[in-house]
Amino acid sequence: MPVKLKDIYQKSADLTCLIQWLIGLNVLIDLNGETCKSCETGKFGLRKDSSYSRDEHVWRCSNKKCHKKVSVRVGSWFENHKLTLEKILLITYFWVYQVSELFVRHELEIACQTIVDWYNFAREVCTCVLEKESEKIGGEGKVVEIEESKFGKRKFHKGRKVEGVWVFGGIERGSKKCFFTTVTDRSRETLLGIIKQNILPGTTIISDCWKAYDILDQEGFDHLKVNHSLHFVDPTTGAHTNTIESTWRALKKSLPVSGTVKSLYDTYFSQYCIRKKYLKDSSDPFLKFLELIKSVYNPQILIPQLTSDKPTSPKKQRHVLLPILSPNINDSMDDFDI
Ligand SMILES: [Zn+2]
Repeated sequence: MPVKLKDIYQKSADLTCLIQWLIGLNVLIDLNGETCKSCETGKFGLRKDSSYSRDEHVWRCSNKKCHKKVSVRVGSWFENHKLTLEKILLITYFWVYQVSELFVRHELEIACQTIVDWYNFAREVCTCVLEKESEKIGGEGKVVEIEESKFGKRKFHKGRKVEGVWVFGGIERGSKKCFFTTVTDRSRETLLGIIKQNILPGTTIISDCWKAYDILDQEGFDHLKVNHSLHFVDPTTGAHTNTIESTWRALKKSLPVSGTVKSLYDTYFSQYCIRKKYLKDSSDPFLKFLELIKSVYNPQILIPQLTSDKPTSPKKQRHVLLPILSPNINDSMDDFDI
């Protein structure tokens, strides 16, 4: 059964239960039974600690002369934020299910800006995941539709100035693979650079008749064009760009009606791609997104920094995954002892 809202509320009613659940999901660091690096004799255990007002728990070294403490949040999605674990989890859940910020504010009684910030953090995770994958689309026998589209509203006052931003994108037919990026111009250099960065050689690329694409044939791609001023489907080749046309509509719909800062457009595109690729058809989109969060904010990579390699007893096996981002470990180490 996928995680429901009531499950998060139920688990949150008992903080120990909630923290154990998050440790089990590897979203929080697991120091249980690890040897403390400070004294090299004590073992870490999860203990209740009232000095940690929000979490009420801390990893504490068993050596009474040491008693080193490590926040349960260290290195995680929750680190360095004032909200309770419950509220952060709920915001994350609401983001996954595309709940409006208005409703989240009503439900959680937190400041509007805080919700905006967390929704931005979630989109940043999407960007990081895509950057890490840096997977090219297309390839031999594959068809990719490309197109540019103008985003943003036209403003007819003040001298008919057109506000907005050009976006360039590509989508592979028959898969969920796509890319979108804002562009400062639509020159051949700019678009060709993005095409080479995102599309494999040998791909059949279908585009409109924008002159910047004329060079594609010479760059290792099969190139088909559709002249949109004459027809939507080329009568000779059957080429069309219906897939990307409908994607533009969905993408534009996924943007907020107002208040979108142009610089955030790219994160909205990442959000669209991640939802399409990982969340839409997942049996549990919330747990799937926690997995993606974990690939960006992986607290387990800090275990070697906090624990001793000198075994005092048979050590348990560690599974340490490399992070996508390399957090500045020295900075976050300063926050361990509060
Ligand atoms: Zn210790």
